[in-house]
Amino acid sequence: MARRRRIRWDRVLLVFGPILLLIILLCVKCHHGDEESPTDPGTVESMVTEESGQDSEAVPVEAPYRDLVVVIDAGHGGNDDGAVNQTETRFEKDDNLRLALAVEERLNTHPHVQVIMTRQTDVFVELQERCDVANNANADFFISLHRNSATSGKGVEIWINNDSMGDITMDKMLAEYIMEWLEQAGISNNRGIKKGLRNSSVDAESENFYINRYTNMPSCLVEMGFMTSEIDNSNFDTKFNDYADAIAGAFMEMVSDRGIYTENGVPCFDTKEPA
Ligand SMILES: [Zn+2]
Repeated sequence: MARRRRIRWDRVLLVFGPILLLIILLCVKCHHGDEESPTDPGTVESMVTEESGQDSEAVPVEAPYRDLVVVIDAGHGGNDDGAVNQTETRFEKDDNLRLALAVEERLNTHPHVQVIMTRQTDVFVELQERCDVANNANADFFISLHRNSATSGKGVEIWINNDSMGDITMDKMLAEYIMEWLEQAGISNNRGIKKGLRNSSVDAESENFYINRYTNMPSCLVEMGFMTSEIDNSNFDTKFNDYADAIAGAFMEMVSDRGIYTENGVPCFDTKEPA
C-alpha cells in the first residue's frame, strides 16, 4: 500500500507540476496587464470593483470633490471707522466685524466649506489686499459686509458688479438669496439689489465698488442697514443672530440649489459658471 501511494504522488507531480507552473505564470501576467490598462473611467471603475472585493492591496480612488471656498470680508477696520451713528459713538467697522465673525462661525459648521476672512480683528486692510486674498486663494465667492450712511434713509441694499444684471449671473443670484433671507429675518426696508456704484452714471460700466470690480469670483457687497437710522441699529442688535443665520443660510441654500455644493464638497469638474 505504502509503495503504491508514493509512486502515485510522483506521477501526479510529474503530470500536474508543469501545468500548475503555467497557471501561476498566466495569473501573474494577467494581473500585470490589468495595471497597465488604459485609465478610462469604465476600466478604472471595474478594476477597482473587482480588486476591492478580493484584494486588500486595492488602490483608493481620489474623490472628485474639493472644498467650497468663500471669503467673508468685514468692511473697513483700524483707522478706517467707516460710517458712524449720529452721536458718533458707534462705528461701522465694529458692526461689520461682529457680523462677519458670526457668519464665519455658522459657515464653518458645514463640511467642506472653507471660510477665509479678510480680517478677524480691528485692523486696517487695503481694498486691493482684500481682493488679493480672495484671488490668490482662487475663492468661489466673496461676500463683503458693510453698513450704510445717509442723512435720511433706512433698510438693506446689496451691490453687485455693473455688468452683472443683464443675464442670470452667480453674483446676482447670491444677492437675491441673501436679500430674500434677510427680508424673512426682518428688515426695515428692502432697498433692492443695485449695480455699480452709488451716484455713478448708469452707463459707466467701469464704476463699481472696488471689491466687486477687482475680485475674480462672484461677489456682492451687503449694506446691512444705515448707521444713521435708529430702527436699523436697533434691528441690527436685536436680530443680530437672525441676520447672521440669514446670510450663512442664504449662501448655503444658493450653492446647494445650484448644485455647486454637496455634502461632499464641490464636484471637481465644476466650471464655476452658472448652471
Ligand atoms: Zn462701509
